[in-house]
Amino acid sequence: MIVAMQETATDHQIERVIEHLVRMGFSVHRTTGIRQTILAAVGARVDFDTRTFEVLPGVQEVHRISAPYKLVGRSFRPEGTVIHFSNGLTLGGDQVVVMAGPCSVESRDQLFTVAQVISKAGARVLRGGAFKPRSSPYAFQGLGLEALKLLREAGEQFGMLVISEVMEISQISMMLPYIDIFQVGARNMQNFNLLRELGKIKKPVLLKRGIAATLEELLLSGEYIMAGGNYEVILCERGIRTFETYTRNTMDISAIPIVKKLSHLPMTADPSHGTGRRDKVAPMARASLAAGADALLIEVHHDPDTALSDGAQSLFPDQFAKLMEELRMIAPAVGRKIV
Ligand code: PEP
Ligand code: MN
Repeated sequence: MIVAMQETATDHQIERVIEHLVRMGFSVHRTTGIRQTILAAVGARVDFDTRTFEVLPGVQEVHRISAPYKLVGRSFRPEGTVIHFSNGLTLGGDQVVVMAGPCSVESRDQLFTVAQVISKAGARVLRGGAFKPRSSPYAFQGLGLEALKLLREAGEQFGMLVISEVMEISQISMMLPYIDIFQVGARNMQNFNLLRELGKIKKPVLLKRGIAATLEELLLSGEYIMAGGNYEVILCERGIRTFETYTRNTMDISAIPIVKKLSHLPMTADPSHGTGRRDKVAPMARASLAAGADALLIEVHHDPDTALSDGAQSLFPDQFAKLMEELRMIAPAVGRKIV
């Protein structure tokens, strides 16, 4: 951390800041220039708040040099994390994994119809919400356990892994036998108790960026899971809330290369929630792949106009198949392959 003192700072004020830094375990290097004193504080601590120093008398500005996270940072595993699944699929290497399926599992017919078309088109992971975080308490809330069973069955029948959203701690043990990847939704990105519990399990967790979360906050939420001992964390950009109203959210494509630089964790893009509009999903999926995404999460429905949730952003099966073809063309251009 660098603490720049004001030109008018007195010796007494400078001494007080140094004492404070030393008390917190930093070793301090003092440089006195012609006008200003600069304090360089070095130490192993990451859990400090720069504002603690900003408010001390005589301080002009404070800059954090080290990242506030340890385990999710790129330096922890410079080569990058690759997650290996039991069926040979890998996530985070040169393969790009496409996860697709309906927003919600609505019925056996619906899930199996969608699962069949997406697996034929090349999806390797089947998505489908069993527990739905809906803005309105009167909207469809998901089929719960029944949906989990259907997901497992469809996944096995069509040779796909299964991902589904966990909303609270009590659902974890219920979901464990049925799913391969736990999804933490945007609304739960900072549900720290849930993240801690997911740190104790042995299955990958896909953590979505909150609707108003900075990338640092996303990474710190990933740190909660890793700190518990679960190193199989997958991050996901799914659009953030901005002043723009044309799209449901603003898909922050730049989050992909930024996270890839700051962290070793695989990064996913969800252009369905990122745009909220079916006609904008394919362009954003193509852009995400080109920007370095390790996986894509895409909503598909065989009859989106009747979908119980997120129909407007769900691709028709033929749109999804076309997108897969396009992704297969783009992948080699950026040194990746679609499996
Ligand atoms: C979903 O994947 O259907 C979902 C609810 O996503 P998010 O948490 O990104 O809104
Ligand atoms: Mn959805």
